[in-house]
Amino acid sequence: MAEALSLSKVFNTQAGWYRGDFHAHTNYSDGEHTPDELVEVARAEGLDFIVVTDHNTISAFVEFGDQREVLVIPGMEVTFRDGHFNVFGVEGWSEWMEGFVHDRDIGERPGRAPSDILRQTSALGLLNSLNHPLLEPWEWRDGAAEMGDVHCVEVWNDPSWPDNIEANPKALKLWTKWLNAGCRVTAIGGSDYHRPEPKPGEDKPPERLGLPSTYVYA
Ligand SMILES: [Zn+2]
Ligand SMILES: [Zn+2]
Repeated sequence: MAEALSLSKVFNTQAGWYRGDFHAHTNYSDGEHTPDELVEVARAEGLDFIVVTDHNTISAFVEFGDQREVLVIPGMEVTFRDGHFNVFGVEGWSEWMEGFVHDRDIGERPGRAPSDILRQTSALGLLNSLNHPLLEPWEWRDGAAEMGDVHCVEVWNDPSWPDNIEANPKALKLWTKWLNAGCRVTAIGGSDYHRPEPKPGEDKPPERLGLPSTYVYA
């Protein structure tokens, strides 16, 4: 039986730059690939790691096999009307996920604000990353968020999405503003990969896992 994803496995003890993608979906939310298929795409793209970030669920974790070639880091895309953020390093169901679902429902969790969850996951030592903060209609709108709870910001989200031609440079400017204000937030990229081909009727180029990639020295 496949084990749940673990943070304590070491696949490679060599120090160096590793290339990966911090934002990818499976068919446990609105992605098209099964967990195994997603890993196969990552392998074919030559990525060292991916973070699985389904919307408001971690149910896919148990389906990832004992991967050797691609490191799969467990995460979740906390998804609300007022903002989306990725939590990295999620090891299992936990109190902060109260009201979240164990199936493919990606609906709202009424009565909870993303800033409340940011605070809870930050206090637990998990890593928070604001996703596509200026991409309408999924931009960040929760004014109550504390900068101390924001560890990373996705300055480059899926470049195949037409509105990101403007939204990504805006996110880059936002990050620069934060840095100038003394906030030590790390900029990362995420492909927000869902499927290999556009949905029927969608007039856009295909998405690609690993576009953009982020290099991490580990
Ligand atoms: Zn999102
Ligand atoms: Zn996403």
